[in-house]
Amino acid sequence: MSDVRSVVIVGSGPAGYTAAIYAARAQLDPIIYEGSVTAGGALMNTTEVENFPGFTDGVMGPDLMDSMRNQAKRFGAELITDDIVEMDLTGEIKVLKDGSGNTVKSKSVILATGSAYREIGLVNEKRLSGHGVSWCATCDGFFFRGQTIAVVGGGDSAVEEATFLTRFADKVVMIHRRDSLRASKIMAERAKANPKIEFLWNTEVIDVLGADKVEGLKLRNTVDGSESERAFTGLFVAIGHIPRSELIIGQIDLDAEGYVICEGRSTRTNQKGVFACGDLVDHTYRQAITAAGSGCAAALDAEKFLSH
Ligand code: NAP
Repeated sequence: MSDVRSVVIVGSGPAGYTAAIYAARAQLDPIIYEGSVTAGGALMNTTEVENFPGFTDGVMGPDLMDSMRNQAKRFGAELITDDIVEMDLTGEIKVLKDGSGNTVKSKSVILATGSAYREIGLVNEKRLSGHGVSWCATCDGFFFRGQTIAVVGGGDSAVEEATFLTRFADKVVMIHRRDSLRASKIMAERAKANPKIEFLWNTEVIDVLGADKVEGLKLRNTVDGSESERAFTGLFVAIGHIPRSELIIGQIDLDAEGYVICEGRSTRTNQKGVFACGDLVDHTYRQAITAAGSGCAAALDAEKFLSH
């Protein structure tokens, strides 16, 4: 049993790192698989986080994640910059395989794989991805200096992306399928007061136009069904997220949208010794602070499970 770990954490957003901090402090010697591309999860692609308690003047998303990561490290969590590509969570000993072909065994697993950007689902959206279509303003905004770009969505992410993009673009048009934003009031008001942002209400994107790069969008009015075309050189899609649960389908109970189902208010899944936290379980709140809180709960649940 010497090569069997107590706890392996998969995913490295605020949920994963918080679980690692708690598990390390409980001397469970956790390994955390941070992912091969960007350790830190979705917050690595944001700018200023103004609502994480404890930071009076806000904190940059990547800095917040760096601090959580270093805190986990300080207490002895083993950080591995790789993906888990396969999991067998059904037995008493869980078996996980990473992207480099290594296998790790563990008595418990904390799933904190978060969520991925939702796509509109258009063929040309995919084809022109990286050629004017993007899901990340902080990553790609710089390339759109002086241009007219569209942002699709009406939630906090869309408003945040649009506001950020006004640093570079001449004009940002927010395209939303309804006539009011879902975003929080403070962020919506800020966007509405920004002279570079225009709103296109009751409108959906039905095609992305352009041979090698985005040249425009085909739009449909959701009220009268009329269609039109408008020139844009960029499209940022910010229409929410989908849980990253593809690796656990068939082993862990998921709801119709793919979120992990937990027992009551706990982080316990249907498999003994497997816990889930963060955006992977959360339809509703999806904040950095709620993800961190549920990562803490997952570590405490795992600790209790292991002590029995
Ligand atoms: P969201 O709140 O779920 O909003 C998604 C938006 O996309 C909605 O306006 C929705 O329209 C629209 N949409 C969904 N599917 C669509 C489709 N197929 N075509 C066109 N439009 C579509 O997602 P989010 O903005 O990513 O935010 C997720 C969570 O993170 C929220 O809880 C948010 O508060 C939080 N967040 C917070 C901050 C912050 O506090 N700084 C920043 C970003 C995100 P409908 O409105 O018509 O449904």
